[in-house]
Amino acid sequence: MDQSTGKLLDRFAFLPPELDCGDGWYQVLFDLCKAIEDTTPPTGFRIIKVFDKYGELKVYSVGGNCATRLCISEAVDLAADVCSGCGGLKEEQKCERCKKDDVGDCAPDISAALPPKVEADGK
Ligand SMILES: [Zn+2]
Repeated sequence: MDQSTGKLLDRFAFLPPELDCGDGWYQVLFDLCKAIEDTTPPTGFRIIKVFDKYGELKVYSVGGNCATRLCISEAVDLAADVCSGCGGLKEEQKCERCKKDDVGDCAPDISAALPPKVEADGK
């Protein structure tokens, strides 16, 4: 997360200095932080790590309570359907569009790597 990180960090003091995920989750994280703020978390509450693990949102926190944990688990469920790259709905790790952009992570086309089929010609 690049351009939006500052906005979130300025707004919510309990976030860690870095958010290691794509801008596509900005809204999910904003809503999460807002929901946590609304529960009035315990004084020592901190989110210590936010990252994208193979398309899954991971949020580690300390000093929270049932309410903060519930907020986090709801955000994780929500993020599972949202592309961390662009914020669009997705099926797997990324939406089709981001999969195409992200050439480095693309699995090579396996059919191209296989030797051409040899037809038995019976001669
Ligand atoms: Zn995407």
